[in-house]
Amino acid sequence: MNINDLIPDYVRKFEAYIPSKPDHLLMKEYGAPFLHRLNNNENFLGPPEAACRVIHDFESGRALIYPSGDSYDLRTALAEKLGISENRLLVGNGSCEVISALIKALCEPGDNIITADKTFAVYEWVAEFSGIEARLVPLRDYAFDPQAMLDRIDRRTKILFLCNPNNPTGTYWTESELTSFLEKAGEDRIVVIDEAYCEYVEADDYPDGLRLMERFPNVVVFRTFSKMYALAGLRVGYLVGTEEVVDVVRRTFVAYSVNNLAQQAARAAILNDKEHIAKTRKIVNEARFFLKGVCGKIGLDCVGGQGNYLMIRSPVNDLLMYRRLMKKGMMVRSMTGFRFPGWIRVTLREMGVMEAFADVLTDEIKALV
Ligand SMILES: *Cc1c(COP(=O)(O)O)cnc(C)c1O
Repeated sequence: MNINDLIPDYVRKFEAYIPSKPDHLLMKEYGAPFLHRLNNNENFLGPPEAACRVIHDFESGRALIYPSGDSYDLRTALAEKLGISENRLLVGNGSCEVISALIKALCEPGDNIITADKTFAVYEWVAEFSGIEARLVPLRDYAFDPQAMLDRIDRRTKILFLCNPNNPTGTYWTESELTSFLEKAGEDRIVVIDEAYCEYVEADDYPDGLRLMERFPNVVVFRTFSKMYALAGLRVGYLVGTEEVVDVVRRTFVAYSVNNLAQQAARAAILNDKEHIAKTRKIVNEARFFLKGVCGKIGLDCVGGQGNYLMIRSPVNDLLMYRRLMKKGMMVRSMTGFRFPGWIRVTLREMGVMEAFADVLTDEIKALV
């Protein structure tokens, strides 16, 4: 058997994503005595207290029982919090799973999706390994370019993916920009607003995708428990759409993909989250202010507004910078894969780690010039 004879062209051509090795192997490889993760935008404050209790008290007897196949209790809690019907929610094993389900449900070869060239890459990846054309529109001043995206729409455009705020640049669509875009994009296609970092945003003109959906029923919103709620390891994310859209996406969705513990912890996380969000925002804002100051002092450009991350321009190749920082126990994201060669992205965390990172970065810059 020649496996290449069995697979579609678009799968053969697709280059698989290579996940990073486990921390203990990386520490050995780089000779690092410890490792601070600054690469995945996790929230190191940890999950909200109520979620921590659920995780701690999880009984082994629950492990032998299948979870609710449609995350019933979690959807009910989310529906109440968001003020919508639970039938408008689809919960997945991370929002990546719902991204994939949406594309599978709507697109066939010959169709296309439109997104930015430098944004969360999963939209583009799922489209390409499914044989769907991904039209990538260059960012403009580090932000999505609405008019250039509209110009790429044709009869076969099924979905437009917007990331608000954008990962990795931290720019955001304002309410008026987004409204005007939705008016022009028309009703004959889906517009996804990925709000993975919405709980971090404090700007007054930041739009709530759920409210826009009242006027534009072709809007679909993605949210996740991986970032603000610090449950990345349990994998929970969800989609909000009209009942009609959710009904369709559910067809290509494997039930039981969200485990028992994840469903319970996520439900607890949102019951009383005000203090958790306020605390996290304070940590992130302090870190952003500090790190921008450090960049200014050592003469490095940086980009970052919203979200718990900051992009920094490295004076040397980003992979080289990644390796140098790794040896000192600092794991950042090298950005060549995001089409930002020469940049690194750093997760904004508690000051202790930020100061340690700033010292290491400053030393490296001194050693390089
Ligand atoms: C982290 C992230 C997600 C979340 O993915 P999960 O599968 O829910 O962990 C989604 N979109 C963006 C832009 C992200 O940065």
